[in-house]
Formats: sequence, C-alpha cells, structure tokens
Amino acid sequence: MSKILKREDIDNKYKWDLAPLCADDTQFEKEIAEVLKLIPKIEAFKGTLGDRVSLLKCFKTEGEIMLKFEKLYCYAQQKSDENTADNTGLVNSDKASNVYSKYCVASSYIMPEISKLEDKYLEDLILDSEFADYDVSLKSYIRHKKHTLTEKEEALLANGSEVFGGFSDIFNMLNNADMKFGEMADENGEMVELSHSKYGYFMTSDNREVRKNAYEKMYDEYKKLLRTIAQTYTGNVKKDVFVAKVRGFDSALERSMFNEEVSPVVYENLLANVEKALPVLHDYVAFRKKVMNLDEIHFYDLYVAMVENSEMKLPYEKAYELMKKALKPLGEDYVNTLTEAYEDRWIDVYNNVGKRSGAYSNSAFGVHPYVLLNYEENLDNMFTVAHEMGHAMHSYYSNNTQPYEKAGYTIFVAEVASTVNEVLLLRYLIDNTTDVNEKKFYLNHFLDMFRTTLFRQTMFAEFEYITHDLCEQDIPLTSELYSDAYEGLNMKYYGEEIVHDEYIKHEWARIPHFYRSFYVYKYATGITSAITIAYNILEQGEPYVKKYREFLSSGCTLAPTELLKIADVDLTTNAPFENAMNVFEKALNDLKNLF
Ligand SMILES: [Zn+2]
Repeated sequence: MSKILKREDIDNKYKWDLAPLCADDTQFEKEIAEVLKLIPKIEAFKGTLGDRVSLLKCFKTEGEIMLKFEKLYCYAQQKSDENTADNTGLVNSDKASNVYSKYCVASSYIMPEISKLEDKYLEDLILDSEFADYDVSLKSYIRHKKHTLTEKEEALLANGSEVFGGFSDIFNMLNNADMKFGEMADENGEMVELSHSKYGYFMTSDNREVRKNAYEKMYDEYKKLLRTIAQTYTGNVKKDVFVAKVRGFDSALERSMFNEEVSPVVYENLLANVEKALPVLHDYVAFRKKVMNLDEIHFYDLYVAMVENSEMKLPYEKAYELMKKALKPLGEDYVNTLTEAYEDRWIDVYNNVGKRSGAYSNSAFGVHPYVLLNYEENLDNMFTVAHEMGHAMHSYYSNNTQPYEKAGYTIFVAEVASTVNEVLLLRYLIDNTTDVNEKKFYLNHFLDMFRTTLFRQTMFAEFEYITHDLCEQDIPLTSELYSDAYEGLNMKYYGEEIVHDEYIKHEWARIPHFYRSFYVYKYATGITSAITIAYNILEQGEPYVKKYREFLSSGCTLAPTELLKIADVDLTTNAPFENAMNVFEKALNDLKNLF
C-alpha cells in the first residue's frame, strides 16, 4: 500500500457520475437560485389550510420544491464528500443547507396550522382519493398534533435548525479534515499515512505489531482532544434533550421512538435479549483468545480473522461479481439492477485525499441511488459493498413503486435490507466452500458480524441511553464520565477475558454515529430482522422473496414494525431476537467443531 491517491489520479470508472443529479457547479448555482425563488410560493398558503383545495395545492407545492431541492442537496453533499477539504464543495453544501433552512422556516406554519384542524376533518381527507399520495403525511400530522407547538415557537425552532446541527458539523470537520494520525509502518515496513480507512484495514492485519501501533496511534490523537470532543458531544446530547423537552416528551429516547413510530417494547426487547446472550459473547472472546494462542487478548485483536487466510485479497471487480452471485436468490431483476449500478457509475469506489471516510448510500427521488465507498481489498470491504448496495436497492424499489411522498423509508427499516445482503453473502460463502480452512474463516466472519452489528451496536445504544439519561438528570457531562461509562459497558459486554486498557474506554470519542442519536440500535434490530428474512429467503424461495420484494417496495406506507410484518418479522415479540441469538450460538458451535 502506498500513499493515498489524489482524486484526479483515479480512473473515472471508479468514480460516481453525479451528472444525473446536477451537471456541474455552475448549473448548481443556477438551480439552487431557482429553488430559492420557489420558496415564497409555500408561504402563500399560510392561513388557508382549513380549505381542502388550498391544502391540496400546498402539499403539491411542497413536493414540487422538495423534489428539485433533494437532487441539489445530494449533489452538493456528495461533491463535498469527494474532497472535504475543497472549498467549493463546502460552500455549495453550505448553500444547500441554507436554502433548506429557509424552506423550513417558510413552511414551519404548516404543522401548527394543520394541528388546529379537527381530527375528523383530517381523517376524511385520508379517505379522499385526491389526497391518496398524502395519506401517510396526514396520519403523521394527526399523530404529531400533541407535540406540535404554536406557530411562533415552531418558527423559532426551525430557525435554530442549522445551529442545532452544528455539533455534528464540528465533529465531522475535526474528524475528517483536521485530525491527523501521522505515519506508521505497514506490514512491509513501508511508512504510510494513518487514516480512518487505513485504520480499519490495519485492524484486520495478521501482523499484531501493526494492529497495536495503529490502535495506539489512533487513540493517542483522540486522547489529545478528549475534552473538546466531550464538549462537542455534550452539546449534541443537550440539543436532543432540549428539543424533546420543548416538544413535551419525557425523554430524548421517547421522542426518538415516537418519531420513528416504533414501540419502546422493541428497544426493551433488544436490550433484554442481548443481555441474556452476553455469556455466549464472552465465550466467543475466550475461544478467540485460545485459537489465536494469545497470552492476553486486546481490543485490537478482535477484528483480525482467527484463521489465517492469505488468499483473501479481494479486488473490487471480483468482490462485486461474488456479491452478485450470492444475491441471486433475490431474483433476476435485483441482480440486473446491480449490474446497471456498476456500469452506470452509481458507486464511488476508492479512497482519495480528503474524501469522506466510511461508506454510505444516498438517494434523491427521480434519480438512481448513489453509494460512497472507501474500498480496500479485503473481505470486510466486500461486505460493505453488499451492505450499501442493499440500501441502494431498497431506495431503488421504493422510489420506483411509490409516489415521492411515500417513497422515503425510515431509518428503522433502512438497516434491514443492507444486512439481509450481508447475511446472504455470508451464507453463500459458507455453503459453497469445501475447504475447511475457508469455512472456518467465513464462520469467523459471521460471528464477527454478530459481534459488530448486534452486540457492539447494542452497546453503543446503551451508551447513548446512559448519556442522555444523565443529561436529563442534570448531571454535568465530562470526558471522564463518558470514558468511565464506556469502560463499564466494555466490561459488561466483553467480559473479563479481554484486557480493558488505557485506550478503549475513549472509543466513544471517535464514533460519528453518536451525533445521530438513537440511530445505532437500528443496526441491531436490523440484523435481528435480517437473520429471519435471509433464512426465509433461502429456505422458502420465490414465494417468500415476493413478500420481501413487497417490503422493499413499500417505502413508508406503514409504520416500520408493520412493514416488517409483511416479511414475517414481528419485533414486538421475542421470537426474532431469540432466533438471531440461536443462529449466533449455533455458528460458534459450528466453528468450534471445525477445530
Ligand atoms: Zn447501513
């Protein structure tokens, strides 16, 4: 591995084509100015929403503006993610945020005005065929009435939206652009610059010294900024608590669950069932230590494969083809669209100087979805591709089936489609190898998927629960408090066998998802649902795939837990959780039996 490439030195076919969103920066200027001009149109309906015709026009205008805006917003965001240090990208993305804030202010009267309308009147509109595209919104208005403030207060909150997002912006800027982790020797003794994606790669290195160095070097940098990061995170927590309180919720968590339209029972089910299964996770850690033949097992020993597999270098093309084969049970149409995504450059593949770290899928209605990667040639990264393509395909099906107003699915179901793909890929690999060593390797990966997606994310969820709870009790939040709480959770989840060193208790400081509160538990419920779905796809075939396709195409037409019921998953019961835990335990036993 050499130095990180500059963007212009990467072949075009590995870079996404943003033209379907917007031709270029000049066009962006022009179109964003047009959207800005449309905004007063939405204000014109103020005071008239009690009138049926006027309300319908208002909804249509909202759609018209947002459809145009969404594309520009995605363009600006993605362009800026190509190189976070580039000023034009930053300015454009700032402009888009600014326009959005203006739109929010201009439309902030809508919610309070509709809230004043009688339930009966709104319920009648839901049955009116002219309002067919807006029934989900109308139901949501009825649901949110209790937590809607006066027009003046709503306007005030809308005006503050940009400021509220500031904590996350500060952290991202610090984390992606300003923090530097220095150079270190890789496996070949070559000096390379440590970046987020290199860190992820080094954690899977067979060379323990490399893992240890990357780990310590990374955390040393976070330790230097611990107080600043704690302050930034606290700001974010306080923002959540403030908004929840103002809107009349008992807690930030309650508000989040309400917004998601998910029963708190689901959250309780997750925490309780994961806690029950922690002895199996402890057993797994102990088994890992034994197999790796270590005196002490550290956190930097958790990501490397327990089984040596030097063959596992996976160039992007090969990984993509393998993924397509594994996803064949999802049908021809699904696989053909994956080919289209590859050929039509939906995907930004490799890391370059200044590029945003991590991976995501993004979509604007009316244009195909996009995927950002920082591809490194290993198995983990192949799973990331499958994961993000799962998101992309979910958007693709919903966008092509539902009207704009009902196409956007909520975060809660978002992590299901992505994880189903990962599970299918893994099952494919496990079932199609006759090589014992390879089988061990994949089972190991399957177990780690549970560890990172189910256990680790539930631990994160518990951390968020604690920090918000402490804030709600008016307990001053400090970096020490965060690190202590985090250390306690590490002990509980990973047990005594692993060394709880000087570094890992500060891990909270480098998790970008904590700036999107109560997001991560959805990874855990996502994999829980995905296990049931993937096994049903493999066992029941076509009739079940139809149900799953219906789920993917349903956007936000139902509450998330109801959507999952289309695919035979009921998270308000213990069944899917127990099912997932059994699969984890069985995989651990399968692996043990191969040694
Ligand atoms: Zn995801």
